[in-house]
Amino acid sequence: MSRVMPIQARSLVNPVKQPDTWFGLRYNMNLYRGCQHRCIYCDSRSQCYQITDFDHEVLYKENAIAQLNDELDRKRIKGTIGTGSMNDPYMPIEKELQLTRQAMQVIADHRFPVHILTKSDLVLRDMDILQQIKEQFALVSFTITAAEDALSNVIEPGASPSSKRFEAMHILAKNGIQSGVLLMPILPYITDSRKNIEPLLRKAVDHGAAYVLPSLGVSMRDRQRLYFYQKLDQHFPGLRSKYERKFGDQMYCPANHIWQLEEWLNELCNKLDLPTKIPFYQPQMDKQLAFF
Ligand code: SF4
Repeated sequence: MSRVMPIQARSLVNPVKQPDTWFGLRYNMNLYRGCQHRCIYCDSRSQCYQITDFDHEVLYKENAIAQLNDELDRKRIKGTIGTGSMNDPYMPIEKELQLTRQAMQVIADHRFPVHILTKSDLVLRDMDILQQIKEQFALVSFTITAAEDALSNVIEPGASPSSKRFEAMHILAKNGIQSGVLLMPILPYITDSRKNIEPLLRKAVDHGAAYVLPSLGVSMRDRQRLYFYQKLDQHFPGLRSKYERKFGDQMYCPANHIWQLEEWLNELCNKLDLPTKIPFYQPQMDKQLAFF
């Protein structure tokens, strides 16, 4: 169980510094600090993010909704607001606090586009608001790294099992909300086999995925590495020494045989007619021109 404590946000919707060619974001929004999903590979544990007790403490931004209203009132450029890069906006505490739900309503009222990144089927609760946001642009990406629940329950123990994420994707797609899979990170020796990836992609297609965005490796830094290695010892005895031998202090651990894997994956996605790029928000130029 994690401690849950309030903090005050000074700013909430921050511009993305570089043009974001991966996720199509113009702004980033984090309503929480810390995450209850406890993925064994989570990069947000790294020292550079200065979250002291990532696994036992969740801080929520108590003034977030007022702050968001105020910031969106003042934003002159409409662009996609992303949420879910440093924590999951639909982690279990969201059920009670409903911060993400309230934030989505503010975004809908301000007619901003949104891209939600999550590993939780709780996002379905907010279908009514996503339907409003969809008038601009609404996209929900589910990070899914393991085809089977037995593995996702080990590597992402606090998140919805993979099967629930697939089901949620299906429901969104059936309701006209674009949704797809973030196939990232890929963990060498754990999730980088064709035996894992092929059924995962087939399930994505069967559940209405509009895209898959793959990244075939995992970052590995200081506290992130310490935690990950502890979990390897616990769940995958003997694997830690393989990582140590192969990757040493490297900050990135690519999948085994990455080039062949990438080629194979692209061919498979072609065969499945599954795009490997996320659809981006396009401002409605015709409406804007009509206005002038
Ligand atoms: S859901 Fe994302 S932020 Fe949360 S623990 Fe997992 S990887 Fe980290």
